[in-house]
Amino acid sequence: MFSYLDHSLYCEDVALADIAQRAGTPCYIYSSQMILDNFQAYDEALGDLPHNVCYSVKANSTVGILALLAQAGSGFDIVSGGELFRVLKAGGDPDQVVFSGVGKTAEEIEYALSEEIHSFNCESEAELALIDSLAARRGVRASFSLRVNPDVDAKTHPYISTGLREHKFGIDIHEAETVYERARAFRNLDARGVSCHIGSQLLNTSPILLAVDKVVALAQRLRSAGHGIAHLDFGGGLGVAYQSADQPPEIRGFLDCIRKRVEGRGFTVMVEPGRSIVGPAGVLVTRVLYRKRTAHKEFVVVDAAMNDLIRPALYRSHHDIIPLRKTDRPPITGDVVGPVCETGDFLAHGREMANVAPGDFLAVMTAGAYGFVLSSNYNSRRRPPEILVEGKKWRIIRTRENYEDLVRGETV
Ligand SMILES: *Cc1c(COP(=O)(O)O)cnc(C)c1O
Repeated sequence: MFSYLDHSLYCEDVALADIAQRAGTPCYIYSSQMILDNFQAYDEALGDLPHNVCYSVKANSTVGILALLAQAGSGFDIVSGGELFRVLKAGGDPDQVVFSGVGKTAEEIEYALSEEIHSFNCESEAELALIDSLAARRGVRASFSLRVNPDVDAKTHPYISTGLREHKFGIDIHEAETVYERARAFRNLDARGVSCHIGSQLLNTSPILLAVDKVVALAQRLRSAGHGIAHLDFGGGLGVAYQSADQPPEIRGFLDCIRKRVEGRGFTVMVEPGRSIVGPAGVLVTRVLYRKRTAHKEFVVVDAAMNDLIRPALYRSHHDIIPLRKTDRPPITGDVVGPVCETGDFLAHGREMANVAPGDFLAVMTAGAYGFVLSSNYNSRRRPPEILVEGKKWRIIRTRENYEDLVRGETV
């Protein structure tokens, strides 16, 4: 959906430079078609197997994006009360919401119970006890899955790997049956599922398929023991190509492998993809402010910074950076840096890239997931606008912050 036509970079049928000129930079721009295509790849690959694709809201929680997915029939995986609020604002169906997270507060649980969400993915017995007591007080029943920790190594960045025993997430799969047994004592809880999520940006699916096998086997043992396990939730985590050498798994092929392992056993399959739905569908567009040469290095100073996109600084992650207008000038090698007062403020190091001049626009690719959601006001920078492209049309789904936004809620 992002491609050159006559040397100009387009998103669907709109030249990105037109948007950048009108909306200003930096700005995030998303392809609605690509988001929907990715969602449908999940939905269609699961075919007639009963399933629910619950988009992981934390990857990109802008209401306009959530509304697009809600209209396509998506469910949602949330990790906070704030995300539930956003889903409801976007017209999402609470009966298709699952609530994950290791530290849900009583207030968040009460909110979720009052909105009658589908189920809770629980991570400890103490959490089960709290949900049970809050459900009792309201006179309702709550459905839950235990998020089991299958003890597989996701082989991804350590900060986003979650499926090993030493991680804070989930309940050790070897203890899960005991916990489900004890949970029978909670009178307001129904054990309806088993869930797992082993990590993010997985480029190899064997760890997650290993986890799927372990979860299916556990669910069958639980059923034999009389638990009403209806759904299996395999989390998210499918990786995307941040550079051409990355070979992420195809959504459809991966889901086929899952389907084969689950088919015919009478389970509803749930998945919680985030990055693989929105990541490749978004770019951060920035303008070159200065070229600066020191004795050792060439710097391209741009108007986007680590507060707008923190992934390079936080994970040392690579994002391709390409010009909105291609020229014949020979490439340069330089660091792309922002205006923030930190050496960690870079978008690329030692990158061979277009020979840009001040005023030129650049697109930081594959920025649709964990981009805007991780942005901040550091250095009192206003967070950028977000724009959704639909064919020939585009619209602002979040306006650029103004100076008043920066001090909202503050007093002298
Ligand atoms: C972050 C997260 C996801 C989504 O992960 P992606 O890598 O963005 O697909 C799904 N489920 C849970 C529980 C998560 O914490």
